[in-house]
Amino acid sequence: MNYEKLELLINGTWRSGSENKSEPVYNPATNEIIGDLPHASKNDLKEALESNKEAFKSWKKEPSLNRQKIIENACRILEDKFDRVATNLTIEMGKPLVEAKMELSVGLDVLRWYGEEGKRAYGRLVPSRMNGLSQTVIKEPIGPVIAFVAWNFPVMNVVRKIGGALAAGCTITIKPSEETPGTAIAIGRAFVEAGLPPGVLNIVFGVPSEVSEYLCSSSIPRKLSFTGSVPVGKHLQKLAAENMIRCTMELGGHSPLMVFDDIDIKKAAKISVAGKFRNAGQVCVSPTRFLVQDSIKDKFTEAIIEETNKIKVGNGLEEDTNMGPLIAERRIDVMNEFVKDAIESGANVEMGGNRMNRVGSFFSPTVMTDVKDNAKIMNEEPFGPLLPIDSFKSVDEVIDRANRLDFGLASYAFTNDPKIIDNLRSEIQAGLLAVNSTVVSTPETPFGGIKHSGYGSEGGIEGLDAFLVTRFISETYNI
Ligand code: NAD
Repeated sequence: MNYEKLELLINGTWRSGSENKSEPVYNPATNEIIGDLPHASKNDLKEALESNKEAFKSWKKEPSLNRQKIIENACRILEDKFDRVATNLTIEMGKPLVEAKMELSVGLDVLRWYGEEGKRAYGRLVPSRMNGLSQTVIKEPIGPVIAFVAWNFPVMNVVRKIGGALAAGCTITIKPSEETPGTAIAIGRAFVEAGLPPGVLNIVFGVPSEVSEYLCSSSIPRKLSFTGSVPVGKHLQKLAAENMIRCTMELGGHSPLMVFDDIDIKKAAKISVAGKFRNAGQVCVSPTRFLVQDSIKDKFTEAIIEETNKIKVGNGLEEDTNMGPLIAERRIDVMNEFVKDAIESGANVEMGGNRMNRVGSFFSPTVMTDVKDNAKIMNEEPFGPLLPIDSFKSVDEVIDRANRLDFGLASYAFTNDPKIIDNLRSEIQAGLLAVNSTVVSTPETPFGGIKHSGYGSEGGIEGLDAFLVTRFISETYNI
């Protein structure tokens, strides 16, 4: 095995932590240790921030064309190492290799998209009310950025932060997940090889709460971008408030998937199962509450079970695997708790419902029916391979139930009825709505939630804007 060498990147140098602290990294499909990850000390973090501050002075002035060229070079270097990076992603995170390759490929698209979009950070001229007065609005990079991201998309979560920051002219210190460090390091190495100046990008690891507390307590960062759970997002926002650090919060969701009775049941079930069990359900936009019109509930459930039965669970490196393990052992207990609670509240387990009898953090693809709104799984984000189904009677009822939680990330509907679609467009409280598909994320469209799922977008022109500040300059020569 040729797993990535695990190091910190601080001010252009790859190294271990100055206090020699570290932690093991595991392969969740085998529970074997695959690497030893250095932790950054407070001094290392201080050095990282100071290098960001210093490098910002020149990086912000670098023409956007040059920034784009470096991003493009990094993409080409990653393409040369494509198979190795994707394989290491599967080894550290568990998802099937085909999903890892897809993620890396879309991740490169994201970087390239940001690189190009950086050239279009336009300001504007506003006609004035007086002769001889010129009014200019300019967009400028916000400053050094700090970013914290989760383990579920080791490429995407990282490139959405790095791509936007670098293209906009910001410097960045990112703390990827300690569970999936190799992918982020491979991305960092590509940028260093591509000619990124020292101090523009730092990659650090440590105890998450200690790292974020230290970084937020500094007056250097001007922007914080986080991808992870709602509770951690709220905690980070409070820390950021102290230094008025602007935030983008990409937090968890609890996405309703509504199935109306005018639809092709088999097609809807096939698309829904593929969306649900992608990355073993460890996706912030995973459909998590299946609400089916009562007249088709039995037929839809049958089709769901038929499709779910086709899923081959295994080590992501094996070619025919459709679903890998959960990220770590701790998540097995969480799944067991959701299933136990659902049964106690009257649900039926139609298939799965337990950990698999094999080495690694594997949990069976699980389908449950008659899961009422009072079950824990209908209220808390499951983040795993659990598919709970319940029925509904009317459009008004399902919209109310879809909107009932504080989450507001993604929402899905299967229907061809234009009146229902119109109703959903105006009434559904979610940052993302997909009708007859589960596609809610592309490099060129804004991705993000509302309500407790966070605010701010990544991707699209909004994604670049998140790293820019707006300034107004008024000039007159008539004195
Ligand atoms: P967790 O909240 O403990 O950790 C999620 C991520 O946040 C980790 O990668 C961790 O490094 C980081 N983190 C945790 N505490 C932090 C802190 N104080 N400062 C900075 N970063 C911190 O949860 P978990 O058990 O790893 O995963 C399960 C939960 O995480 C799910 O319920 C889900 O809501 C959430 N999650 C969300 C996303 C997403 O894309 N929105 C991704 C992964 C996990």
